[in-house]
Amino acid sequence: MTRYKSFHAHSVDDPAAFWGRQADRIHWHTPFTQVLDDSRPPFARWFVGGTTNLCYNALDRHLPERGAQDALVYISTETGAERRLTFAEMFVEVNRMAAAMRALGVQRGDRVLIYMPMIPEAVFAMLACARIGAIHSVVFGGFAAGNLATRIDDAEPVLIVSADAGSRAGRVIPYKPLLDDALLESKAPQPKVLLVDRRLAPMPLFPGRDTVYPSAPEPGEPTPIVPCEWLESNEPSYILYTSGTTGRPKGVQRDVGGYAVALATSMDYLFGGKPGDVMFTASDIGWVVGHSYIVYAPLLAGMTTVLYEGLPVRPDGGVWWRMVERLKINLMFTAPTAIRVLKKQDPALLRASDLSSLRALFLAGEPLDEPTATWIARAIDKPVIDNYWQTETGWPMLTLPRAIDGVEIPAPKLGAPGVPVYGYRLSVRNERTGAVCAAGQKGVIALDYPLPPGCMTTVWRDDERYIKTYWSNFIGRMSYSTFDWGVQDGDDFVTILGRTDDVINVAGHRLGTREIEESLSRHPAVAEVAVVGVKDTVKGQVAFGFVVLRDPTRAEQAMDRLALEGELMQTVDRQLGSVARPARVLFVGLLPKTRSGKLLRRAIAALAEGREPGDLTTIEDPSALHQIRAALGFAGQV
Ligand code: AMP
Repeated sequence: MTRYKSFHAHSVDDPAAFWGRQADRIHWHTPFTQVLDDSRPPFARWFVGGTTNLCYNALDRHLPERGAQDALVYISTETGAERRLTFAEMFVEVNRMAAAMRALGVQRGDRVLIYMPMIPEAVFAMLACARIGAIHSVVFGGFAAGNLATRIDDAEPVLIVSADAGSRAGRVIPYKPLLDDALLESKAPQPKVLLVDRRLAPMPLFPGRDTVYPSAPEPGEPTPIVPCEWLESNEPSYILYTSGTTGRPKGVQRDVGGYAVALATSMDYLFGGKPGDVMFTASDIGWVVGHSYIVYAPLLAGMTTVLYEGLPVRPDGGVWWRMVERLKINLMFTAPTAIRVLKKQDPALLRASDLSSLRALFLAGEPLDEPTATWIARAIDKPVIDNYWQTETGWPMLTLPRAIDGVEIPAPKLGAPGVPVYGYRLSVRNERTGAVCAAGQKGVIALDYPLPPGCMTTVWRDDERYIKTYWSNFIGRMSYSTFDWGVQDGDDFVTILGRTDDVINVAGHRLGTREIEESLSRHPAVAEVAVVGVKDTVKGQVAFGFVVLRDPTRAEQAMDRLALEGELMQTVDRQLGSVARPARVLFVGLLPKTRSGKLLRRAIAALAEGREPGDLTTIEDPSALHQIRAALGFAGQV
């Protein structure tokens, strides 16, 4: 048996040899001529000259052997809908969608924005884009008009695929009015709009712009076959926007060939997924976990993917476990928040289902606390595997691989997601000097050049921003910053210690505090605002907004304060969507800042969590801290 450490060392010492072998996992229309081109750091090009297609690899390739196997099982506990599609049926649906896109003028390289609830058509649309070489940009359905408009402006789509409505906890959320508002707000050229009508909400159409997608073909209508566009491995497959420190989200751009190879390898080594297995990833297609492990990786591997619209506790906390039994789910993947929610349910609901098909539960997206990890591992009596990654990397950076032939995998340690994954030159570095930290010393988690296949290739249309944001944090070193604090032990295990920047993580959703601040500032009563992340026992973190009003007397009466708080929350709802809504909005006369005017967000967050505010040598006016304390005191009373 080889030790995992040596296996990992080989993968980073000779990446061309390692990834050259993994590339056989996918179909290449024309073979590549070079595994890795690392001549222009920080950019890396994988499988140069090879042509392939993600949709071909996800569907067409499986037809001879698995045409009759389920590719997708859709379950909605919101509408009661259920649908099973074999690979052959998916192939028909994706071709229909691709033909509709072509008919609306979508060409290779064009952007298609997908703003959809969790319905099969969302997956068809993603795969249809991949088929015709269009670049998809999926926007999370929980986002509202403002978020949507920023993304439309940046991606400049020729087509938007959307639907009449989504549904959450039985409440219909109309999408079309949000989309119409976003298009009014946007400055980009007017795209066409293709709409799926679920008959949940009225959907007035704009003639000449909007088309309704036919839910089924006309009787006798032949199935169109749209040929796959063979893309060079490094052409963009998609853009996925993610939050950073500025109010302007970054378009994470991904390639085609590197992504396919990285996902296929991860499905085998990290998840232990085999052709014919059933995988249930409870996330949303609007997030990276949804892109990689609801849509692409399971289908690339010839597995059945389960697409779920609903909550983990509706109609009751047993719903997921009954799905495991009924659909014979082998692999399950979700975020720790979902487990913390389930932990509050009656354990009998869990024991009532036969979980014998389930081999492991994977968790990612936010820190996994030990009590939750222990509780769920005992409750389901299966391995619970934490993995750490981010939108930018597209697949896990730290975890414990499930199984690699001939390789001895280390035993897990509670509290740490695991060891660096093959392909990643991951280290914990001093944030100032860039030197590798000694074991046990806190630093920033960094990745040395080149990033492995599957990771972001650049920021959409902004190479400069890619270099400046990610590759300029360690002076004199070609290292990528994850913006996460971490600490590595003598056995290579890394523990995550939170973000180094102003990004917060609410129930596994990544949000930029700057975006929420900008949204709150739109309210005419607001003069200044600071948003910070505060620890929460269920959601991991929640946002607190501290607001300075133009007219401070407005917050003097408890009733006025409550009314204003409500109005401000609604502003965020309308602008960004309820996921970004602060848990509390508190009013102060002054915000703590440095003498150069920088907000002391960390000090505010510390006070909100009942901790000491830390180093305050640079503070301009210490009385601002008393105001924060007083506001928090007030919050307790109302
Ligand atoms: P996102 O890009 O939305 O996937 O969010 C990525 C961020 O979530 C990371 O940079 C981390 O801060 C956090 N994160 C993701 N997975 C984990 C994990 N397993 N443990 C701790 N934090 C995590």
